[in-house]
Amino acid sequence: MSIVVKNLNFTYMPKTPFEKKALSDIDLEINKGEFVAVIGHTGSGKSTLLQHFNGLLTATEGEIYVDGEKIVKKNLYDIRKKVGFVFQYPEHQLFADTVYKDIAFGLKRFGLTEEETKERIEKAAKLVGLDAGLFESSVFELSGGEKRRAALCGVLVSEPEYLLLDEPASGLDPKGRREMLDLLKQLNAKGVTVILISHSMDDVAETAGRVIVMNKGRIALDGTPEQIFSDPVLIGSLGLDIPEITKMFRAFSERSGLSLPVVTTKAQGKALIEKLISEGRLVQ
Ligand code: ADP
Repeated sequence: MSIVVKNLNFTYMPKTPFEKKALSDIDLEINKGEFVAVIGHTGSGKSTLLQHFNGLLTATEGEIYVDGEKIVKKNLYDIRKKVGFVFQYPEHQLFADTVYKDIAFGLKRFGLTEEETKERIEKAAKLVGLDAGLFESSVFELSGGEKRRAALCGVLVSEPEYLLLDEPASGLDPKGRREMLDLLKQLNAKGVTVILISHSMDDVAETAGRVIVMNKGRIALDGTPEQIFSDPVLIGSLGLDIPEITKMFRAFSERSGLSLPVVTTKAQGKALIEKLISEGRLVQ
């Protein structure tokens, strides 16, 4: 079970004076259960790539398969049931007069009874921490964080197996950011494949098991956070930075003369310090 991309090339507005090649020769396989972060400087092709995974964009050349099934016009509806997309600032897409109706919209074509619809909505709302007391409110009455949750809930009601997200934490305050990332981790632990675009290297390092770096419409690097963030010069040449914690431990490694492994998460950093103390290499 996976999303497989074969020789994907994509050009916006082909054969016009505005023609723009956005993706070149992408070959990729994302397995079910992975938590993948797609990073890269602005205009590197991240969003264009993700929009191919559920048929929002159609490849100019190449193919995309979801669980072995090639995405074609005819199966788009089934593919989108399986592969959900949360846009950047998803709350901008809320439109119905009540929160409940907005969330229910995504289920319209599922052929569920009213009772089943209600159950699904309550389950998804609980998952995202959206208070059921808000169901009959107008979306305009919600706070920023509540709106974001309602919008995410509208995608999760379909119970997608693959979840694509374009900058899900953007515009949220630090608490909202943390909650959003924790929620995605929880979903991933339940088996949902998460593929997200992020500009925060710290968030990426804390959450993703795999990082894909885009550059000029191509995959420049693909590996674990430890592999990707092990070379600040290379990352810098791609217009990116390494996580703060990675920088800190690099500086510590250089100053102390201790040869330390690449650290990309707080938990790794804590474990490493404890190990150094217990080995007597770091005196308290
Ligand atoms: P990223 O998500 O990494 O910022 P995008 O996938 O949005 O990059 O864009 C890749 C390239 O395609 C950029 O050069 C961008 O200007 C161009 N592009 C994106 N969307 C459109 C569009 N709708 N029409 C024309 N060109 C576009």
